[in-house]
Amino acid sequence: MERYSEILKKRKREIVLLRGSGCIYRKCAFCDYHTDKCADLHANFALNSQVLAWVSGRFGDLEVINSGSVFELDAQTLALIRQICREKGISTIHFESHYLYRDRIPALRQEFSGFQLKMKLGLETFDWAFREHVLKKGIPEQEPALIARGFDEANLLFGIRGQTFASMERDISLGLACFERICVNIMCPNTTPVKPDEHVISVFMDKIYPKYKDDERVDILIQNTDFGVGD
Ligand code: SF4
Repeated sequence: MERYSEILKKRKREIVLLRGSGCIYRKCAFCDYHTDKCADLHANFALNSQVLAWVSGRFGDLEVINSGSVFELDAQTLALIRQICREKGISTIHFESHYLYRDRIPALRQEFSGFQLKMKLGLETFDWAFREHVLKKGIPEQEPALIARGFDEANLLFGIRGQTFASMERDISLGLACFERICVNIMCPNTTPVKPDEHVISVFMDKIYPKYKDDERVDILIQNTDFGVGD
């Protein structure tokens, strides 16, 4: 499992895939990576310390992901992230979070005062019915501006049966209106019953990808390892 990489396209940054106590939600129909977890906080800190030792600070920008939400990382790991970012001159830190933790974001920003925190929401789509009935994402809110409140960035998930050119275009334009940056993830085969839909993916690649491939505010992951971490 690769846990450190550098993202050299668009917004250049380092990225680390750390390990936490595990996603407390675990109901997203398309997700099986929440299995990267461990209940032993000391073992997590030992692993995370090794991964964070790779961080050089060369871009002044670090993305931290952990197969769940930042709030599932142990306190020692969070303290080490702060320490390393201070030592290496990193001013911007990206964390991911499920919507259910949104009320804890202001306190996290306080904990990381002195840094620019970019909180990335696992949104997948603004289409409420699809998101909640098919993807089972657990975001009850329907209003885009309210969903985005407290977050700076968002993940979108495309390539699943039921999605269309219009739904994907709408997600991207709303995403760019509500967030500073978005990350489009194309569904990849995994152990869940949610399968990639080749027709939807070809619509995306033919009609949407060319329009956004050079947009600095849109990361696009065709393979889920395109950031260089994961397996
Ligand atoms: S997508 Fe994120 S929130 Fe949903 S089950 Fe997977 S790790 Fe948990």
